[in-house]
Amino acid sequence: MIMTSSLSFQPVLERIAEEIEHTPGRGRPADYIPALAARDPRSFGMAVAELDGTVYGVGEWREPFSAQSVTKVFTLALDLAREGDELWEHVGREPSGNPFNSLVQLEYESGIPRNPFINAGALVVTDRLQTRTGDAAGTLLEFLRDESGNPEVDFDAEVAASEAAHGDRNAALAHFMASYGNIDNAVPLLLDQYFRQCSIRASCADLALATAFLARHGVRADGSRLLSRSQAKQVNAVMLTCGTYDAAGDFAYRVGLPGKSGVGGGIVAVVPGRCTLCVWSPGLDDRGNSVAGVAALDRFTTLTGLSVF
Ligand code: GLU
Repeated sequence: MIMTSSLSFQPVLERIAEEIEHTPGRGRPADYIPALAARDPRSFGMAVAELDGTVYGVGEWREPFSAQSVTKVFTLALDLAREGDELWEHVGREPSGNPFNSLVQLEYESGIPRNPFINAGALVVTDRLQTRTGDAAGTLLEFLRDESGNPEVDFDAEVAASEAAHGDRNAALAHFMASYGNIDNAVPLLLDQYFRQCSIRASCADLALATAFLARHGVRADGSRLLSRSQAKQVNAVMLTCGTYDAAGDFAYRVGLPGKSGVGGGIVAVVPGRCTLCVWSPGLDDRGNSVAGVAALDRFTTLTGLSVF
């Protein structure tokens, strides 16, 4: 079934949900953040947002979930919009080939993380956004509310506290990078901002809408420009190569779209010039990507022919 631009996405989403319903293995919810462990791995929701804000959805597409690393797309864009290319002196844009919370490369590479989507790189981005705005997490929240049109998108204090209580590895990353002079703010302040950022609760509909500026080549829902066309291309490219942990090659092979996953089980994906997607199912594979989420996006691009390739 190849979609033409005049067709509704709804029948495609319903077919995908039906297929996913009959898929046996769903992976396991993240348990290193205890507040995430209780989610049902059989939960599933998926939304597609068109450039004009029309949203199609299926399953639990209006159910808020923990956005986690999906937020790293937005902090990257918000910081890039403010500081431009100087950011790339502090964080790279190459796949790491290591788990998202790995420490090993940082010492070889003098405290410059490989990319903005592994935890070390995301901490650098949040630190820089904090310096520029005085409230990185608040700036992010305001952006998500504006783009989704949903004032109920919010921080989840329980998840943030749970992550802080088990945040030794992120604290180690931040302190280690601070020892190389690659963190500006006090580490406890940075960690508080980062954990609140990751705790944001939003639905598939909210996150598909919030990602749409990347399908609009940098233009926000209100018509103002956040990123130049070239910067939007850059963010999409980094999502394609680094957005799904150390499985980005497999994700590109199966889905063929820029995407960003989070350990809450959400994944956003971009069809530049056409639409954005968000899928959520809390069961993860051993790399940290939602099992049903990747399968659903794989089916979407196969059924519609909408990929960047
Ligand atoms: N808050 C999570 C962490 O720092 C985010 C991980 C993720 O979603 O990749 O461990």
